[in-house]
Amino acid sequence: MPLQEKSLIKRIQRRARSGSAVVTGIGDDCAVLRLPPGHELLVTTDFTIEKVHFRRDWHRPDVVGWRCLARGLSDIAAMGGQPLAAFLSLAVASDVPQKWVDRFLTGLLGLADEFKVPLAGGDTAESPVGIQADIVVVGSVPHGKAVLRSGARPGDRIYVTGELGASAAALARLAAERPMGPLAGAHFGPKPRLAVGEWLRRRGLPSAMIDVSDGLSTDLEHLCQESHVGAEIEAGAIPLPRVGRRKPEVALEFALHGGDDYELVFTSAKDVPARIAGVPVTGIGRITRAHGMRLLDAEGRPRKLEARGWEHFRGNS
Ligand code: ADP
Ligand code: MG
Repeated sequence: MPLQEKSLIKRIQRRARSGSAVVTGIGDDCAVLRLPPGHELLVTTDFTIEKVHFRRDWHRPDVVGWRCLARGLSDIAAMGGQPLAAFLSLAVASDVPQKWVDRFLTGLLGLADEFKVPLAGGDTAESPVGIQADIVVVGSVPHGKAVLRSGARPGDRIYVTGELGASAAALARLAAERPMGPLAGAHFGPKPRLAVGEWLRRRGLPSAMIDVSDGLSTDLEHLCQESHVGAEIEAGAIPLPRVGRRKPEVALEFALHGGDDYELVFTSAKDVPARIAGVPVTGIGRITRAHGMRLLDAEGRPRKLEARGWEHFRGNS
């Protein structure tokens, strides 16, 4: 590790902001958090591992830090919850420059500031090689109101926030050494859909919800399996990133199977507005009694949709 553990923790402590849910933050054996009355705790944990989730030659350190926390916040959004605090366990090899760690924290704390999420603790260790980070996000949701994956019913419409495929398309361009253009934002600075998730939960609209972290096909399959249902997706309805009014900037395959979108997919039997908290919401299909997933072409002809979500850098690292 570039700095001694103690001085690195001091540095982190100096830079982390506090928050109303944090009674005691960094510096004691445990953080002490205040849970709003009548709420339950949400807890999620996600790895960010060099050469699996990022490459140091492709991703700037601030981007790695931002995306590290975005993964956790997106999980809280997918439950309809509000984040209370984040915890960062960080293992860094001794040959990683201190500057890299500082910039990683700048990215992570930048997103934390944007959503007013205090960094309330973590762990620091020296890694034998490379960088491994684990983010824990603790959130809250009113008692019994967490939106689960398991509530989808046949006949429910399937909705998605924002657009799908931009991040995977940007990554493919990075790999091909082509310019990423406007797709870069989605890959480098994804915005977790916390406001949308909470808005939906307050109105009791979603029967089930999940965030798209591994790709629509894989994450929708998880939702279907937990709900014991199937799904039909209309290929032409899937929102793809466009630049101006020009044709879509990404191939359908990226939207179906690309990862790291951090959008929300949810099901509902009720009317859902086309825009929530400033984010477009698009109906893309419906839940079926028949298990399995089908993709409908423009003429409504079905073909089997397999879960082939993003497999990180398998095969191209
Ligand atoms: P302990 O030995 O009790 O685990 P540590 O020396 O590991 O204590 O940590 C001291 C304090 O610093 C704790 O509050 C811990 O949560 C916090 N901390 C350690 N590493 C990190 C980190 N990477 N990010 C945020 N807080 C950290
Ligand atoms: Mg410790």
